[in-house]
Amino acid sequence: MSLTRVPGLLFGGDYNPEQWLEEVWAEDARLMAEAGVTMATVAVFSWSRLEPRQGAYDFGWLDRVLDLLHEHGVAADLATATATPPPWLVREHPEVMPVDAQGVRLEFGSRQGYCPSSPVYRAHAVRLARAIAERYAGHPALAMWHVGNEYADHTLECFCPESARHFRAWLGHRYGDVEALNAAWGTSCWGQHYTALDQVEPPRKAPGPVNPAQLLDWRRFCSDALLELFAAERDALREVTPDVPVTTNFMSILHGLDYWKWAAAEDLVSDDAYPDPADPAAHVAVALSYDLMRSLKRRPWLLLESAPSAVSWREVNVPKPPGMMRLHSLQAVAHGADGVMFFQWRQARYGPEKFHSALLPHGGTRARGWRDTLALGADLRRLAEVAGTGTPAEVALVLGWDSWWGLEAPESMPSNRLKLKDLLLAWYAPLHAMGVAVDLAPPDRDLSGYRVAIVPNLYLCTEEQAEALASFTGELVVGPFSGVVDASDQVHPGGPPGPLRRLLGVEVDEFWPLPDGAVQRVRHADGAEGTARTWTEWLRLPDDGPADVVAAYEGGELDGLPAVTRRGRATYVSCLLDDVTPVLGEVLARVPGGVARTAVPEGVEAVRRDRHLFLLNHTTTPQRVALPQPGTDLLTGTPMRGQIELAPRDAVVLRIEGDT
Ligand SMILES: [Zn+2]
Repeated sequence: MSLTRVPGLLFGGDYNPEQWLEEVWAEDARLMAEAGVTMATVAVFSWSRLEPRQGAYDFGWLDRVLDLLHEHGVAADLATATATPPPWLVREHPEVMPVDAQGVRLEFGSRQGYCPSSPVYRAHAVRLARAIAERYAGHPALAMWHVGNEYADHTLECFCPESARHFRAWLGHRYGDVEALNAAWGTSCWGQHYTALDQVEPPRKAPGPVNPAQLLDWRRFCSDALLELFAAERDALREVTPDVPVTTNFMSILHGLDYWKWAAAEDLVSDDAYPDPADPAAHVAVALSYDLMRSLKRRPWLLLESAPSAVSWREVNVPKPPGMMRLHSLQAVAHGADGVMFFQWRQARYGPEKFHSALLPHGGTRARGWRDTLALGADLRRLAEVAGTGTPAEVALVLGWDSWWGLEAPESMPSNRLKLKDLLLAWYAPLHAMGVAVDLAPPDRDLSGYRVAIVPNLYLCTEEQAEALASFTGELVVGPFSGVVDASDQVHPGGPPGPLRRLLGVEVDEFWPLPDGAVQRVRHADGAEGTARTWTEWLRLPDDGPADVVAAYEGGELDGLPAVTRRGRATYVSCLLDDVTPVLGEVLARVPGGVARTAVPEGVEAVRRDRHLFLLNHTTTPQRVALPQPGTDLLTGTPMRGQIELAPRDAVVLRIEGDT
């Protein structure tokens, strides 16, 4: 099944015709057709042009743009244009602008300038979304809806009185009455006991550390408040065009929004990904975020924004060297994307993104970038048969936003050095290097389809989540500082790992975070030595159902104490190992028949989508790869078998012959 009614892999980018004189549009359309562009994202920031005065719509220019796109075979990912409210709305209703934690109301002149809870902004946004839907419901170019833009970018939270009212309503819904809130928030600490819900405010800047349970609910609320806003526009679109899929562009692995909840509220997952060309390991981190996107709805997704070369918002914006744009695009397809789109089509001449690269650079069709655009369009057409195919994974990496928010609460943790993305990557990177396919999963998902589940950290773990992990029949790995608190950020009775104690067969006597730079030696049972940094724990083995010791601390205060343990199929790792490979290797070896993997040299990535094997050389030297099976390279049409040589930054997409 295709993501939209457009067949094959989607190719295109954001198109901002309102930044150009109309005589340029014809050239845009002609060049889009020449490059094989199949979709353009239109009108993301067009509110002030579509409705220059309240209720006075000017759709004429957008009519002509959509007609022109359709005449040239380009479908529209049509935005609701609500990402920047227009000046007239802001001046008439200054309260639609967000207020920061210091109480400063932000000014017009950038983007995403709205309070997520403002009923005025919401009413106007929904009205505009409905007007656009009614205008273009029958337009042949319309293929999908793009609601808002990059929710939580710039505006994740607002501390205004309206947001405070919304927060209290959300708390009322969650807790019912103020005493339940007092109990959940532990307000007996530091004299914070409330006698009425209307005494509660958002966590604005306070004299000292703010109640972490209040902060955790604030994080939940902020994600939910933006989701409500998205859903209000989505509902208006669905009423008018029930058959047109609705999406909003995610921002890879984003701390602010619970994407499990968000993905359930949209028809297809789309993502904006900007790996840094200056980071030699960027392709590993971005692969993790691509795997999350595929896992959110367990089906193909769309790379809705990426950069053809440099971006414009880092301290130093390094361009992509020849071959990298193609390689990164094919990598997204390998990880389940059914299309590759870019920010943006034509490089801007003004504004904060004028130095951001584009499919059609400032230099026009003479530029290196334009040749890359043409070549990628051709490559994606050759891969059309890949669209709709799935990626079988036997390993799940567990990620939950509640726990992430709790883990990274400021000012009250044993160590501020534990960052969830680092913890995920510590396990993901070696699996990626081994050519093992990985899905991500929320902590409450039924994991029965997997053979291995890895929980890098589950600081916040409910009884229900612990039961779900205990009922998993595959190999389970749990990382440090897990099972510490409940859903209200209160330490489980008896201490960590709380509801995971029976499953893991360990008790944490005391957390033992290490000072920056300190190294703790670890001795594995087979004699191999490892090292840990940042985090260790003083473990006790309980008398009833103790775990076996797989590795022990060596030297220092924890000398001889267990570092890595196993009870049945559950492995517990109480520290941040510099290299998890020995533990991972042992766990994978315990899986009957092993876990499917494709052996490749370092720096080469191997990813399967059903009958297709993607081999991607992320290095700058040629690499020899032994093909597991013969097949045909879709990119060149060449039959291949045995050993092949992959040129630097080159890729092969093999259609496997025979049984896979
Ligand atoms: Zn607000």
